Amino acid sequence: MKVLVVEDNEPVSAALQAALAQQGLEAVCANTGKAALDLLERTRPDVVLLDLGLPDCDGFTLCGTIRASSSVPILVTTARGDHASCVRGLDLGADDYLVKPYNLAELLARVRAVMRRRRPAEPAPIGEPPGDLLLAGPVRIDLKERAVLVNGVPTELPDEEFGILVALARRPGETLPVDRIVDEVLRTHRATLKASLQRDIASLRERRGLSSLLEAVEGKGYRLSVPGPRDR
Ligand code: CA
Repeated sequence: MKVLVVEDNEPVSAALQAALAQQGLEAVCANTGKAALDLLERTRPDVVLLDLGLPDCDGFTLCGTIRASSSVPILVTTARGDHASCVRGLDLGADDYLVKPYNLAELLARVRAVMRRRRPAEPAPIGEPPGDLLLAGPVRIDLKERAVLVNGVPTELPDEEFGILVALARRPGETLPVDRIVDEVLRTHRATLKASLQRDIASLRERRGLSSLLEAVEGKGYRLSVPGPRDR
């Protein structure tokens, strides 16, 4: 299990790293928001400990940014103990909230709790990248293959239904607000669309009259090339 510690206070960060190591948890540390996003992408942590007071960005914004691209559990740690900050953090997708100065044992217990809530019902089969698999009770979703098994039975789903099920399966047992589900569905769609875009463009090119109009602009994207007034 890997914990991304986002904390700009070096002694606090070092103490956390040591405490996590004692629990058998690997810690990767970022002291800025930029470093946090970089490490999130590169190291794919199992949980994020996020300090809200960072030198280069607002921790709330960072929380929302992380949540927009990842379902990793986020445990916010902050000196801001007011209820409004707490509610804001949770609304932005944080899973838990701990006010500084916190008790280290309590922090570790909460890390274990968010990890427990996230743990899939059964381990991913060996040889399959866990990142592409969602396991939630009898529901097994292969994100890469876009395949759904319910109680072992393959279940074909239209895009929207697939997106909704993915959103819910990412957080089994949790009640997701409607807006959150919509966000997740849009995100799933986006990833699927991106993956299939090249194929779809090739297919569009095979349509009568479109082959010469659809141009790929290397490194930039695609354009529909329309004849200028003189060519008409
Ligand atoms: Ca700080």
